[in-house]
Amino acid sequence: MRCPYCDADNDKVIDSRAADGGHGIRRRRECLACGRRFSTREAVEERVRLTVIKNDGSRVPWDRQKILTGLERACYKRPIAIESLQKIVEQVEDAVFRKFEREVQSIEIGKAVAERLKALDQVAYVRFASVYKQFRDLDDLLQEVREVLDSAPPPAPGQGLLF
Ligand SMILES: [Zn+2]
Repeated sequence: MRCPYCDADNDKVIDSRAADGGHGIRRRRECLACGRRFSTREAVEERVRLTVIKNDGSRVPWDRQKILTGLERACYKRPIAIESLQKIVEQVEDAVFRKFEREVQSIEIGKAVAERLKALDQVAYVRFASVYKQFRDLDDLLQEVREVLDSAPPPAPGQGLLF
């Protein structure tokens, strides 16, 4: 790899680590001519392509940015770090790519995201679910809220509602 500073083609790798959620490798290199350091990235060339089938039947290419945008919208003004959302995107991408080969229904992606969001923030979860489950009316929404409340852990001793 040619050094970006002095153009010499003589370097050694000093560190390698996983990048892009395990889909790539980042290498730290040191130029043996000028001693400066730079990084390179290596990724699989034949990245697996997945087509998403939307609710209306149309097909679009897999786009992780769309998942992140949906999450950000659901988490608007919630105390959630962007890193947590990026982690969900990576986990969902891993899970979906492992399970589906060529095509995936968008509802499956919604499910995978919702499942993880539920464990992170219940308000954000209900917001997200209201979009991906296409709640028709308030009853649908309330039903979902009830389910969230029912699945919440019971209050700790001393913090009960009745005593
Ligand atoms: Zn150099």
